[in-house]
Amino acid sequence: MMTRYDELEAKIEYYRTTCDEPQLDIDEALNSKEYFKNRVAELKEERKDLRERIEELEIENNKLRDEIASIVTNEDLLADLNGANTALEMLEEENKQISAERDKWVGYAEEGFERIKELEARLHSNGECALEETDSYDVAYETVHVLECSACGRTCEYINGAYNYCPNCGAKGWQKGE
Ligand SMILES: [Zn+2]
Repeated sequence: MMTRYDELEAKIEYYRTTCDEPQLDIDEALNSKEYFKNRVAELKEERKDLRERIEELEIENNKLRDEIASIVTNEDLLADLNGANTALEMLEEENKQISAERDKWVGYAEEGFERIKELEARLHSNGECALEETDSYDVAYETVHVLECSACGRTCEYINGAYNYCPNCGAKGWQKGE
């Protein structure tokens, strides 16, 4: 293929051999040839620089790509937060159920202790107790007497008559002072 420089060479050769054109044109052509030669050398150098720059940019680009891949996004954080909230809600629900279950068993245990206390009181009283008046108050022109059982420690009330047995623990009672 005929290049621009080949063309110039041919033109110069033509001018040299024919001498049909003024000498000025030959000088101009020679100058042009020199100019293009230098320009090509410059462009080659520039291209070399550009190639190096492209390589540098590619390396930088890869680094940035890796960095972007390693960045934790807002979506990731949001997903983590939602997961934690769900776990927390489940734990709270579980805690509620456990608390309810615990309260139920504490109730049973308290009832059991109360019953044991009563049975112990009856056992130690040999089935008898003293019903001692600890308080009294008036209601509608009548006096209410408050008695405390020596066996179970609980109180009962009466207006007229007397208790033969503690209404709480069932021990056979006798009223102090009788
Ligand atoms: Zn009693």
